[in-house]
Amino acid sequence: MARDVDVIIIGAGPGGIFCAYELMEKRPDLKVLMIEKGRSIEKRNCPKRVTKTCAGCQPCSITTGFAGAGAFSDGKLSLSPDVGGNLPEILGYDKATELIHESDEIYLKFGADKSVYGVDKENEIREIRRKAINANLKLVECPIRHLGTEEGYKIYSKLQEHVLSKGVEIEFNTMVTDIIVEDGTAVGVKTDKGEEYRAKEIVSAVGREGADWFKDKCEEIGIETKPGTVDVGVRVEVRDEVMQFLNENLYEAKLIYHTPTFDDKVRTFCTNPSGEVATEYYEGGLAVVNGHAYKGKEFKTNNTNFALLVSKNFTKPFKTPIEYGKKIAELSNMLCGGKILVQTYGDFRRGRRTTEERLCRNNLIPTLKDAVPGDLSLVFPHRIMVDLDEMIQALDKVTPGIASDETLLYGVEVKFYSNKVIVNKDFETSIKGLRAIGDGAGVTRGLQQASANGLSVARSIIKTLEA
Ligand SMILES: Cc1cc2nc3c(=O)[nH]c(=O)nc-3n(C[C@H](O)[C@H](O)[C@H](O)COP(=O)(O)OP(=O)(O)OC[C@H]3O[C@@H](n4cnc5c(N)ncnc54)[C@H](O)[C@@H]3O)c2cc1C
Repeated sequence: MARDVDVIIIGAGPGGIFCAYELMEKRPDLKVLMIEKGRSIEKRNCPKRVTKTCAGCQPCSITTGFAGAGAFSDGKLSLSPDVGGNLPEILGYDKATELIHESDEIYLKFGADKSVYGVDKENEIREIRRKAINANLKLVECPIRHLGTEEGYKIYSKLQEHVLSKGVEIEFNTMVTDIIVEDGTAVGVKTDKGEEYRAKEIVSAVGREGADWFKDKCEEIGIETKPGTVDVGVRVEVRDEVMQFLNENLYEAKLIYHTPTFDDKVRTFCTNPSGEVATEYYEGGLAVVNGHAYKGKEFKTNNTNFALLVSKNFTKPFKTPIEYGKKIAELSNMLCGGKILVQTYGDFRRGRRTTEERLCRNNLIPTLKDAVPGDLSLVFPHRIMVDLDEMIQALDKVTPGIASDETLLYGVEVKFYSNKVIVNKDFETSIKGLRAIGDGAGVTRGLQQASANGLSVARSIIKTLEA
């Protein structure tokens, strides 16, 4: 028999959590149910953190469970609306700024570090910008609050405790399989455990992990979407010394380039000073590369890693950019026995495979220990290879040493936020009763905007319920 609640939130990532938090703050009387296919935060355990080798768990504890992809992320909170999503386009720049400030206050309330990087080094930033202009790169300024992986985990643990204590019900290890639509209105959901729940308001906050599933649902129940972007590229690893000036003065240098040959957009993303390159597993065991940095000194490495992502926009009749990104990642997995491929930039430029032998005598030691030396030209289309090469050459003018032979390139990094759901200012989809937020709706691409999006949708829900 179906059970009735007021609000169902699908997915307990930052978007879903901040939505539940705000609903309870403003309307503690509401019955709020979160349905999450992963585990509660204390049961999220990635064996790789001890063994250094990924066990390919399903569901993956790195991307599913309470706090979603945020739990073991590097926890870099971007404090500018220019970074991490489309909230400014949907809500307006000022509103997005205000919401980001509010969600940041909540992170602070739950224990986030008070320091903010990238605000007090005016002269140094001017110097970096001068070099960037010289290389035709755009420097995006974005103050960063860094939670760090272990502190971020603690903050989300406290948030889990908090929302549960306020009466939010959370069904863990439960996947929403269907959205029930009656007379053009979403009225409930079905789960893989055979349960049915009904609610006046349903929020899809499924993240990148659930983007494929939600895309299928959009087609099935007629939710309007628009063709999205896919970001595909590599994770670059260099010695800390190479990035020192940028790391010390900006923490995260966000640089955008339009490549001379193809005029494609390439950007740097998610810099982790003294960090580690990591494997992230998606549904079906697809291995993609990522990176993080621990705050504790004992976990620090000598290397900085960051992503270089090429943004690909597709036009008609192509409408499956997620599949496109996955196929590229699959190719790399196929060549490397399901592991991440690594190539030195020297070999990348010379068009030859990196071998175990050459990797062993490379000056730079990879932090991803089970990466397989290989050849990225067997994975990426020519256009992406050229884009990456041109970006690395441009970056070398800002931070010399990036284009060194020893630099490591790990593939493939893909960002699956390409299913853009058409939503209004209240994040209502074209199906009444169903709202879509966060990374899974193509609205956001980062922790702070996903969290701010949660606050904003909660307020819209309350407005509707009280109308
Ligand atoms: C390794 C890593 C490092 C990152 N580092 C940073 C960083 O430093 N800074 C930053 O800003 N961003 C970072 N990100 C991105 C950030 O984590 C995401 O932007 C953010 O978590 C998105 O929040 P969300 O709530 O939209 O989705 P998610 O956090 O992905 O949460 C979605 C949740 O929905 C659940 N779900 C999906 N489908 C279903 C279903 N059908 N039924 C039930 N549950 C479902 C999933 O299990 C998941 O828990 C990182 C991501 C990763 C993976």
